[in-house]
Amino acid sequence: MISSRLKEILSQIKEAEISYHREPGSVLLLAVSKTKPSADIALAYQAGQRHFGENYCQEALIKQRELGAFAITWHFIGPIQSNKTKAIACHFDWVHSVDSLAIAQRLSKQRPANLTPLNVCLQINMSNELSKSGISLDEFPELCEQVAALPNIKLRGVMTIPAPEDDFEKQRQPYKKLCEAINQLDRFKLDTLSFGMSGDLVAAIAEGSTIVRVGSALFGARN
Ligand SMILES: *Cc1c(COP(=O)(O)O)cnc(C)c1O
Repeated sequence: MISSRLKEILSQIKEAEISYHREPGSVLLLAVSKTKPSADIALAYQAGQRHFGENYCQEALIKQRELGAFAITWHFIGPIQSNKTKAIACHFDWVHSVDSLAIAQRLSKQRPANLTPLNVCLQINMSNELSKSGISLDEFPELCEQVAALPNIKLRGVMTIPAPEDDFEKQRQPYKKLCEAINQLDRFKLDTLSFGMSGDLVAAIAEGSTIVRVGSALFGARN
C-alpha cells in the first residue's frame, strides 16, 4: 500500500512539474511520518524514499533510534519548544518551523561542531487564524537578516501552512503572495520553498514549491 501510494505521489509531482513548467526533479517529496510507526517509514524507505518529516521531538528520537541503520535525512517540521532545541540541533538535518530569533540562536549554539550547518526555513503565517505558529510577512525581512547571520545555521527558505481550501485558485493565493515577498529578498539567496501538503501539493508546485510535505496521502489518515 505505502509503496504504491508513494509511486502515485511521485508521478503526481512529476506531472505537476511538467504542467507548470518546473524543472524535472526540482520538487522534493518529504514524507511526513508523525504518529506513524517505524515499520511504515521502513516500507517507504525500501520503496526509495529518503527524506522524512516529524513534528514531535520525543517521538522522532525513538524512531531515529529504531531506524539507525537507514540513511534517512530527517526534517523537523513541528512547533519548537525551547527545551527541545538541543535534541533538534543534534538529531535533524533540516528544521522547517523556525519562527523566532531566540529559537534560531539556540539551534545555532547547540548545533554540534562536527555536523554541517543546520538547514533552516522560517515559518510564515499567511494569516491562517487556525494556527498561532509562524511570523507575519511584516516580521519576515528582519528575521531573515538575523537568522542568516548565525554561524551554525544555513538559512534555506520558508515554510507555510495555509488554511485549508478546496478551490485550486484559492490554494495558490497564499503561496503566490509569499513568493512576491521573497522576490524582494534576493540577497539571502533562498533556494527552498516548503509549500504544499496532501491536499494542495499541485497548487503549491504551480507556485514554485521545492519541498512538498506529504503525510496522510502516503501513510493514510492519522488518528
Ligand atoms: C502533518 C503535517 C503535514 C502533512 O499533512 P498531510 O495533510 O497529512 O499531508 C505537513 N506539514 C506539516 C507542518 C504538518 O504538521
